[in-house]
Amino acid sequence: MQPTNLFDLHGRVALVTGASRGLGRHFALTLARAGAKVALAARNLDALAGVVRQIEQEGGEARSVHLDVTDAHSVRASVEAASALGPISILVNNAGIADQKPWDEQDEDAWDRVIDTNLRGVWLMAQATARAMVRHGGGGSIINIASILGLGGEYSVPAYCASKAAVVNLTRSLAMDLARHQIRVNALAPGYFETDINREFLASPAGQRLIRRIPQRRTGELQELEGPLLLLASDASRFMTGSVLVVDGGQSAGT
Ligand code: NDP
Repeated sequence: MQPTNLFDLHGRVALVTGASRGLGRHFALTLARAGAKVALAARNLDALAGVVRQIEQEGGEARSVHLDVTDAHSVRASVEAASALGPISILVNNAGIADQKPWDEQDEDAWDRVIDTNLRGVWLMAQATARAMVRHGGGGSIINIASILGLGGEYSVPAYCASKAAVVNLTRSLAMDLARHQIRVNALAPGYFETDINREFLASPAGQRLIRRIPQRRTGELQELEGPLLLLASDASRFMTGSVLVVDGGQSAGT
């Protein structure tokens, strides 16, 4: 393999969940620019259509797929619909939500919503996509979007922290089960990147204090996730499975 071709994804089909905005939208654009055909999945079909249009205008191939990761039927249907582009060999398991409230104001419904989306949804998507990959026999790469909040705690987001820690260990378990099928499973653990999920918090005094504690003294730019994503998606990481790749400006490096 020539070093310049290490990250090439021509001939691959990728499925990105939560591709309607934020990190997922950027992941879909990045994979398409590296040559993959991309199925973009989320609940908001209008927003997905805009991203599909952008990929097509740039000369890529994409389609939108309705998906609610909390609904097992929707998960299975989305994998089938995405397979219209060809056998899926990359899954970016990105859809996720957060619920930030003081610990004694949190209720069971919010807990269930976060765990259903961030953990059960990631497992359902990985299982359904892996089944399709095994049927095709061509192997693949599953990238679970965890978080540095899955590696250490944070105030006022207990369900989110618990869900992301579980995603890290789910990644390791699936990596062991799926290695015999040439399917690699890795986690990408971003630090703070400004999106709808955290914009309000980052603008608050607590958010500004947090940014000052990041060794690089800033949040990440979406472009700074492109290299790590392409590493895990492509053959450049073909001996990596069960890994957790942290991209956080040094935030989790200290004690
Ligand atoms: P956004 O809120 O901007 O985007 C969340 C995405 O998830 C949307 O596309 C949304 O689409 C989708 N989504 C939410 N619920 C569901 C569902 N039930 N079914 C299908 N899709 C769903 O957040 P980010 O882009 O910031 O977050 C993306 C991922 O990255 C999350 O897993 C998050 O935890 C993780 N992350 C983000 C960090 C950050 O700093 N931004 C840091 C670390 C991790 P729709 O509403 O159309 O369904």
